[in-house]
Amino acid sequence: MFDQDGYRDHESVTWISDAATGLRAVIAVHSSALGPAMGGCRLWHYDAPGAALTDALRLSHGMSLKNAMAGLPLGGGKAVILGPVNDAQRGALFEAFGRSVDDLSGRYVTAEDVGVSVADMASVARRTRHVSGVTAAGGVGGDPSPFTARGVLRGIEAAVQHTLGRSDLDGLRVAVQGVGHVGGALCGFLAERGARLIVADTNAKRLGQICDETGAEAVALDDVLEADVDVVAPCALGGAITSETAAGLRAKIVAGAANNQLADPAAGSVLRKRGITYVPDYVINAGGIIAVGAEYLGGGSEASVLADVDAIGPRIATLLAQADADDEAPEILADRRAEQIIATARKA
Ligand code: NAD
Repeated sequence: MFDQDGYRDHESVTWISDAATGLRAVIAVHSSALGPAMGGCRLWHYDAPGAALTDALRLSHGMSLKNAMAGLPLGGGKAVILGPVNDAQRGALFEAFGRSVDDLSGRYVTAEDVGVSVADMASVARRTRHVSGVTAAGGVGGDPSPFTARGVLRGIEAAVQHTLGRSDLDGLRVAVQGVGHVGGALCGFLAERGARLIVADTNAKRLGQICDETGAEAVALDDVLEADVDVVAPCALGGAITSETAAGLRAKIVAGAANNQLADPAAGSVLRKRGITYVPDYVINAGGIIAVGAEYLGGGSEASVLADVDAIGPRIATLLAQADADDEAPEILADRRAEQIIATARKA
């Protein structure tokens, strides 16, 4: 039932259940070599508990790589809560989750992910101090999504310069799959810079709102990845780029916010064979963890957080140039670098 390989390199995996609130959750700590394992909490409806576990393991490993590549003194972890939850019990359920986070004594630090709001994290904060994304003090912290979107924007700018030789986004055609917290904010940034947007979302109301705000054109869910655009930005859930979708892309660049965008390594190979630039997801979407990491660790100013988020652009430019020079896929190069950083910290 469970992905045993995923367990192998995790420090701990904790199943949580609380009969009073109906909470069922997994907290996966992949690595604390670089510092407390930090990563968001996802609330999602899974077909089976095994799917939730697999998701938590993949996401927590990704957080280790993301935090290492972003230069943060943080390890990688992730929590998933199995939905649906009873709305009347929501506050109590997140408090129960907070107690479980607290039981780990700071080895795992939580924050928002898909399906979880700032208000939910405020409930968690009633039971543990090992939580972030709760208050934006002096422009640092709070909702991570705008910071993630800003980092994705910087990554798109770097990939456009690298692949298309352009230093502006005016008239650039971008397809955004998923216009939620991050995708919606990204659309705003892109529209301000003159990009032409094509968007799709399963939530028709949210889709209409983003189209009204940014002038984006809505297309059917099945059409967004194959749209005639320069850049595809997957900003919904993971696994959007399969070998099949990679074969059908018309864009020259894949650069978006979603975690685990490549369904498997073969999808990355198809992109590479077709000369499509793939910007590794955990490198481009680190803006949010940079912001909530600063909130948790303390000591950062708004200016220093924004500078750290903006540094995602040059980091991606260097990564893409190095990948070309080494004739290597950017995602493989990024994995190797991140694993080296973690291995060095582990030895130390
Ligand atoms: P969100 O839930 O606010 O937005 C996701 C959007 O995708 C929703 O509007 C949803 O309706 C839509 N959607 C779901 N399935 C879809 C489909 N098949 N086709 C099109 N749209 C679909 O989540 P978010 O916080 O914006 O995060 C988006 C992605 O970015 C997630 O993969 C998340 O893990 C990743 N991410 C988010 C952050 C952050 O700061 N929020 C940071 C790093 C990575």
